[in-house]
Amino acid sequence: MTTRSNLDPADWAILRQQGHRMLDDMLDHLQTLRERPVWQPIPAALRAAFREPLPAQGQPLASVHQRFMTQVLPYSVGNAHPRFMGWVQGGGTPEGMLAEMLAAGLNANLGGRDQMPLEVERQIVHWMAELFGFPAGASGLFVTGSSMANFLALLVARTQALGPASRRSGVAASGPPLVAYAASTAHGCIAQAMAMAGLGSDALRRVPVDGRHQMDLGELRRQVAADRAAGLQPFLVVGTAGTVDVGAVDDLAGIADLARREALWFHVDGALGALGMLSADVAPLLEGIERADSIALDFHKWGQVPYDAGFVLVRQADAQLEAFASPEAYLARHPRGLAAGSPWPCDLGPDLSRGFRALKTWFTLMVHGRERLGAAIGQTCALARYLERRVAQSPRLELLAPVALNIVCFGLRGVDADRVHPELVADLQESGIAVPSTTRIDGRTAIRVAVVNHRTTAADIDALVDAVLSWTDARPTVHPPLREAEPA
Ligand SMILES: *Cc1c(COP(=O)(O)O)cnc(C)c1O
Repeated sequence: MTTRSNLDPADWAILRQQGHRMLDDMLDHLQTLRERPVWQPIPAALRAAFREPLPAQGQPLASVHQRFMTQVLPYSVGNAHPRFMGWVQGGGTPEGMLAEMLAAGLNANLGGRDQMPLEVERQIVHWMAELFGFPAGASGLFVTGSSMANFLALLVARTQALGPASRRSGVAASGPPLVAYAASTAHGCIAQAMAMAGLGSDALRRVPVDGRHQMDLGELRRQVAADRAAGLQPFLVVGTAGTVDVGAVDDLAGIADLARREALWFHVDGALGALGMLSADVAPLLEGIERADSIALDFHKWGQVPYDAGFVLVRQADAQLEAFASPEAYLARHPRGLAAGSPWPCDLGPDLSRGFRALKTWFTLMVHGRERLGAAIGQTCALARYLERRVAQSPRLELLAPVALNIVCFGLRGVDADRVHPELVADLQESGIAVPSTTRIDGRTAIRVAVVNHRTTAADIDALVDAVLSWTDARPTVHPPLREAEPA
């Protein structure tokens, strides 16, 4: 019998050497990001190589790492790259990466029990409560992302509306159907959360937006009244702090007023924008967020924490406990020993086993501090305004939505936008020069640039604009030459 069952290395010295090599390779990668394409297509043969059977025998760590370096690393989405501007994704930091390594080494399970890693998570809950002006009795929880954070907040709101007994009796037995409200531009995960909560996505009223892409509060008021008149039970309004398509911020103070008058739970989807509170430039736009009953946010977007690090904050811990805490015997608490320290994260959400997402977030906040993180956030908005100016200065380009935060939607003037913009964007992505994306604004396809990455500079914006303009230069049939009358 020669097979060892212990999975630790036979020779720690070899492992240590290889580990240092892996760390150096990754730091080299981060240090030289700019020298590589943002993204490149996966070769068919490489994709096929990942359909091999489960290996019976192990291979040396060094050769598996070699495969990672050549076959995986070059073909990721590229959101760490300064010219990735396609979607709302953060760039990460080397410090966050190192913290993730420490967390994996510790291998802590943050479902509960009396351990210092939970105090790290609670520290961040306190910081967030402070940042958003929530009371000391607020509660919070790390989750995968804001899709999950929005879902958990919706479940808390649902339990508050129907009473804790509804956890046993179910939604169907709990009186008139619940209805919720969000702007038509709200993220798709809100409708998905309604579906998963058993309320149905049709019970999410999609309120029209005005010219600034903010929820129309007059329409919201009318819709709530109409639903009440129809015997339904309005229970929740979701305001968005930074819509994913154009970066618009709803009138959160106005929604807070209406939510109070109508006794609705006021949730803010702050996946993209809530951490704007760290920036003196952005914080005023978020006025009213301090009156929310709950907030979803993503540290992995503007917070630059490596994926994944979503977070839900609830104004009153009791409300969160009422939605999730349960009295299982194997989770019994005791005043001392490892079963102390209640409540535990497993009382605040559906996850029992949970990783130490709080550590990379704590490192990021500790190492950079709120001012520097806030400055990085402010910089992404300044770059969006710079792109807005470049678009305004080019007679061939037009702005397609107002720029509120860090997202710019624009297009080529006088083209068939639905045909040309997706081709242009795919060509740019495949060129590796820059990665924008598309979205639909007022029924037509727009080129969308979301500046989230702290590494992006004005030169990167210039490179993008230049690439767009040379693409059109190369295709005079797509874009007829300019007439003299147009401004230069
Ligand atoms: C990104 C985003 C989400 C979804 O968050 P995930 O972290 O991707 O799950 C929800 N709402 C908005 C406004 C977003 O920008």
